[in-house]
Amino acid sequence: MSDTIATIYRILQRHFGSNPTWWPIFGDDAPFEMLLGAVLVQQTRWETVEQAILRLRDAGLLRVHALAQADTGELAPLLRPAAFHTQKAPGLIAISAYICTHYAGSTAAMLARPTAPLRQELLGLPRIGPETADVVLLYAGEHPVFVVDDYTRRLFGRVHPTVHTPPPTRFTWERARYNIVQKQIEQELTAAATPADAETPNQTGLYADYHALINEVCVRYCLARNPRCDGPPARRVYSIQEGRESYLERHDGCPLRDICAFYQARRT
Ligand code: SF4
Repeated sequence: MSDTIATIYRILQRHFGSNPTWWPIFGDDAPFEMLLGAVLVQQTRWETVEQAILRLRDAGLLRVHALAQADTGELAPLLRPAAFHTQKAPGLIAISAYICTHYAGSTAAMLARPTAPLRQELLGLPRIGPETADVVLLYAGEHPVFVVDDYTRRLFGRVHPTVHTPPPTRFTWERARYNIVQKQIEQELTAAATPADAETPNQTGLYADYHALINEVCVRYCLARNPRCDGPPARRVYSIQEGRESYLERHDGCPLRDICAFYQARRT
């Protein structure tokens, strides 16, 4: 079996199943809620984001006009389950005010812009760096960009997939610049695309599904310290939403062991 980036996707897909639309939505403005979630999840667990989103909903602040007019002192305690809530509160108010001013409160209208200028626009907003911008582009705007997060770097740094496009000299998955890693992955997946393959979603669906699967394997098996290669997986429930409130009952170990350089090196 060749351990390409496309192969890793197939293995993870077979093990965990596909779920490119995993993002739980609790209000009636999904793009705006995803944007909030993308900021809130920085340096914290998804579970705390969901608690904060539910608090916003219950306070009537899960709407862009309402959040734009919120007071930082009122908002920060509602976000408290998420890390850095005092810094994120003014950032979210400013982002909401920007959408109200420039897009009449429609996050969807903003996200309908072409990918490249939209990405630059997002990067100009408070608390939005490359990873957060790409999460918003991919999930909220359905733009075909691959999200590079710490899990992506860790997983590929350990599995060490074969790449067809030569990476820059001294490239490492863990340390290469964000856009270099992103370009490498997108090139590999584009080269491996097979239009006749019914199991392969469109490019946006593929990127969303792959990102979700990388997160799944990294929180279940490929932990930062002491990866659980042979299992059992970490028992973690992400969401209270129906259908997502349970964990995967599999105890047969990480599905990437046969092709993982880190695992193979530990056995020799
Ligand atoms: S085999 Fe172990 S090190 Fe390799 S990807 Fe799986 S959990 Fe991570």
